[in-house]
Amino acid sequence: MRTNPNIVITGTPGVGKTTHAELLARNMALKHLPINQIAKEQDCYEGWDDELQTWIVDEDKLLDALEPLVASGGCILDWHACDLFPQRWVDLVVVIRCDSTTLFDRLTARGYSGKKLDENMDAEIMQVLLEEAKEGYDEEIVVELHSEVAEDVEQNVERIEKWIEAWKESKNEGGA
Ligand code: ADP
Repeated sequence: MRTNPNIVITGTPGVGKTTHAELLARNMALKHLPINQIAKEQDCYEGWDDELQTWIVDEDKLLDALEPLVASGGCILDWHACDLFPQRWVDLVVVIRCDSTTLFDRLTARGYSGKKLDENMDAEIMQVLLEEAKEGYDEEIVVELHSEVAEDVEQNVERIEKWIEAWKESKNEGGA
């Protein structure tokens, strides 16, 4: 039984996942798991997608690498996908959203162009990650938060912190 929740922070690249995850991890002494970095360090790749200029992740290998980390709870899983994480691992799914003009500027500043830029812009406009989260998990544990200006980050993190406190209280009441 976990005494701290596992939280997925997901969304299109550039929406602000890492910014949120780092602040939340610092404030609440949680473990930030930047999944891209873990996949790279543990070589959880099965190939390179030349068109999208991105690595193709070996999901089974990645899950095996993550399992011991998430087992004790208190992890923030920071990734641009969420449906591969088993439901039993996850207590809250935060989908970060961003308006398209702002996201376009952030992604071009990051050097995205061509198909990679277009696909990510389309994914945000079509709210692909929000749908993926709602399909993969109970809707009541999925929250959508916007991250356009600096104050959004503070407010969002505060909201997640309150949620964590309530989660812990509910576990205590349940005699966990
Ligand atoms: P992701 O992890 O989703 O790819 P990042 O957290 O790396 O996104 O954020 C992408 C860029 O956008 C960074 O330069 C970050 O500082 C900026 N950013 C993210 N959220 C906000 C916000 N709410 N206000 C201003 N800048 C933001």
